[in-house]
Amino acid sequence: MARIFCIANQKGGVGKTTTAVNLCAGLAQVGQRVLLVDLDPQGNATMGSGVDKRSLELTVYDVLIESATVAEARVRTDKLEESGCAYDVLGGNRELAGAEVELVGLDRREKRLKAALAAVDAEYDFVIVDCPPSLSMLTLNGLCAAHGVVVPMQCEYFALEGVTDLVNTIGQVHANFNRDLQIIGLLRVMFDTRTTLQQQVSEQLQQHFGDKVFKTVIPRNVRLAEAPSYGLPGVVFDPSSRGAKAFVAFAEEMVARVGEASAPAASPAPAAPAASAAGDD
Ligand code: ADP
Ligand code: MG
Repeated sequence: MARIFCIANQKGGVGKTTTAVNLCAGLAQVGQRVLLVDLDPQGNATMGSGVDKRSLELTVYDVLIESATVAEARVRTDKLEESGCAYDVLGGNRELAGAEVELVGLDRREKRLKAALAAVDAEYDFVIVDCPPSLSMLTLNGLCAAHGVVVPMQCEYFALEGVTDLVNTIGQVHANFNRDLQIIGLLRVMFDTRTTLQQQVSEQLQQHFGDKVFKTVIPRNVRLAEAPSYGLPGVVFDPSSRGAKAFVAFAEEMVARVGEASAPAASPAPAAPAASAAGDD
């Protein structure tokens, strides 16, 4: 069964797409079967995977309006095959901006991605959904399909406030639409160890969210920023860079965390809302 994770944060430019693309490549590298879903009309995750968003015949848009299946619309990242980091992409482009409006008039509008992914469930170990920076109908489709949310965040002054908002939003989606949804973890990205403020915020995060903070920290690394212009994930563009190594370590941490979560528990976990679960120590 595929585990489905949204990469979400209502802020733009926090590293969602970089996380999505490099997590996919890292998971593929450690032997996982991966599908990337690009729910952002900007199509950056599609391009960053080496797939030209302008030449796509079918995208996740067609899947959402049910004019195509996932199997018909997905493409393979041929460019990544040689590196051993290839995965499938259900691409997105500006067409998706229209889905927002069109979905409003349709039935089961927030559950369409979930329904479509069910058909390919056996073919993947991980489905990673790159979300746009808003709580739109597109993001809601991602959150309704997902088992968990990965929140990339920069350790800046207002970071905690932003995370609290997001935790509340996810709690609402959990309560109203998807009882499976939980925050898998907070990922510290673009981290600069030389900055005292970042270290302080990082410590606060750990105090506040405990185990929900991933152990892996993604450093600020120029190779990760350069990679998209070559149509490659940083993990493939420069495997020896600090950024690439961190993302492979993060992929391994995700595999381990998912293994823990799906292992039979001694006593069943109470169905706590995501918001309060995230606040536990
Ligand atoms: P989002 O999807 O949240 O809008 P992106 O992943 O597109 O954010 O990242 C925003 C910008 O920051 C991009 O130019 C990206 O290349 C850059 N970036 C992301 N993560 C890192 C990092 N760890 N080190 C350096 N630059 C990064
Ligand atoms: Mg993005």
